[in-house]
Amino acid sequence: MLRTHTAGELRAENEGESVVLAGWVNRRRDHGNLIFVDIRDRYGVTQAVFNPDHSAAAHAVGESLRGEYVVQVKGTVRKRPDDMTNETLDTGAIELLVDEAKVLNPARTPPFTLNDEAPVSEELRLKYRYLDLRRARLQQNMVLRHKVVAFIRRWLDEQNFVEIETPILIKSTPEGARDFLVPSRLHPSRFYALPQSPQQLKQLLMVSGMDRYFQIARCFRDEDLRGDRQPEFTQLDLEMSFVDTEDILALNEQLTIDLVHEVMPEKRFLQTPFPRLSYDEAMARYGSDKPDLRFEMALVDLSEIVAHSTFRVFSGALAEGGVVKLLVGPGLADYSRKQIDELEAIAKDLGAKGLAWAKVDDATTATLSGGISKFLSDEESRAILDASGAEGGDLLLFGADRFETVSAVLGRLRLELGERLGLRDPEVFAYAWILNFPLVEWNEEQARWDAMHHPFTSPQDEDLEKMTSDPGAVRAKAYDLVANGWELAGGSIRIHNREVQRKMFDLLNIDDTHQQTQFGHMLEAFEYGAPPHGGIAWGIDRVVMLYAGEPNIREVIAFPKTAAGTDLMTAAPSHVDEQQLADLHIALAGKAVKR
Ligand code: ASP
Repeated sequence: MLRTHTAGELRAENEGESVVLAGWVNRRRDHGNLIFVDIRDRYGVTQAVFNPDHSAAAHAVGESLRGEYVVQVKGTVRKRPDDMTNETLDTGAIELLVDEAKVLNPARTPPFTLNDEAPVSEELRLKYRYLDLRRARLQQNMVLRHKVVAFIRRWLDEQNFVEIETPILIKSTPEGARDFLVPSRLHPSRFYALPQSPQQLKQLLMVSGMDRYFQIARCFRDEDLRGDRQPEFTQLDLEMSFVDTEDILALNEQLTIDLVHEVMPEKRFLQTPFPRLSYDEAMARYGSDKPDLRFEMALVDLSEIVAHSTFRVFSGALAEGGVVKLLVGPGLADYSRKQIDELEAIAKDLGAKGLAWAKVDDATTATLSGGISKFLSDEESRAILDASGAEGGDLLLFGADRFETVSAVLGRLRLELGERLGLRDPEVFAYAWILNFPLVEWNEEQARWDAMHHPFTSPQDEDLEKMTSDPGAVRAKAYDLVANGWELAGGSIRIHNREVQRKMFDLLNIDDTHQQTQFGHMLEAFEYGAPPHGGIAWGIDRVVMLYAGEPNIREVIAFPKTAAGTDLMTAAPSHVDEQQLADLHIALAGKAVKR
């Protein structure tokens, strides 16, 4: 080894010991005679002192050091004088008086400083990710991520789960996104797909009798990206045989509780056992199927109260089959026009035509002012206050549109107000289960039913009949685990019966030929004795992001892509040479030919 200790290890007890450290120059301070160099590695920072009276040769090396040089220093541990100890450093009670020093590798001046959290553009960080990863925050995130995954592996192993790898080059598994395709060289004009998830394979492993499977699995989805999305991401994927919904919920809830206790012991659960909400309830109350339950601020349905309203925006929305709902901003009646405009901009971004609002002057007399108050009758104002419990000094925000739009807009504004009011305590984890999802949702554009989860999700037994008569009313045996406004996991009990699977494909308008070409292997496997089974997948990136208190998953992925799906460090995706394309029997068309 090139060192006897790490840079995070030495304490007052080591006084007098002769040690060797190796690491990076975090900071160098030249006090003329004395040079102080903070040596950094993954484990911490140790101060080394170069004194020419002690060693002129070492001091000369000390003079040549610059930020991020890789150095090896041999020296004696000594206690710092009482008034010089550094409480912020684990090694702050000691320093190293350097006897010998050696530059193991010099370094160019990095494009941004690494020893503090000074703001740097994300572009620069991603281009020099290997340097960005030297910073303490990202190092902690990587270690946290490792701990989460290591704990999950240990825990599931103890529960008799078997970790099984499934292929990356597969036939497309539909999870609702676009596939990444890989051309086959050996089979011209054929393509593999990268798995959107190991869904079909884990189900086939249940047919194989593996009983309890898991995998820390990489998934690939060619989607438009958002803050919490990446073209490739990691799941804890698991599947179990001979289980029903309760078994899956119980196991995952216990794993979550044990995991948080292990890796985030300082965090508090808002509630255990985790509360359970139906999808309908979550949408109605919070306008979201992944509600942040750290605060209430529930939406109030006013559709009946304003059923005969003379206010066109309300009556128009209701006439078109929409809804009118209310979000109360507690104590926010002093919001300025500008602040309300900001909220309106958010609403418009999400498809609202505008944002109707009013202020509560006096709740006892039902006096409202501003915004749309003049369009409300006294009775309506009274009823709105009674239904919502809004009080004097509150701000009323109305949504009048299709249910989906109103939910998206008021759900988002609820989060915004929660944030502004400081109601989203980062120390609290408000985990909850969302249950009873619809099996299918209507795809307006394509005029067809789409699976809400995926085509292998089982309908609830009592709704089987409705699959043909009233598909929109069929509930699925599906569940999501949410926390603090994030969907952290989702899964379902699967269809294990060939006939029901066929019915599902029919409902999704997947014709016989497609059923055979796409899913023939699944349908066939189900004829060889498929056990009842179900499973779930966690978004590991999101879980770690939430635990680390980071705003997006790029902060917890070692080498993430940008929001536009590019890798700035290696410059992927990139052009390839003609020969590679020829080998793959690919000719570029139209615009793509120009380089
Ligand atoms: N394969 C599903 C997904 O990726 C999870 C599951 O149903 O287990 O969302």
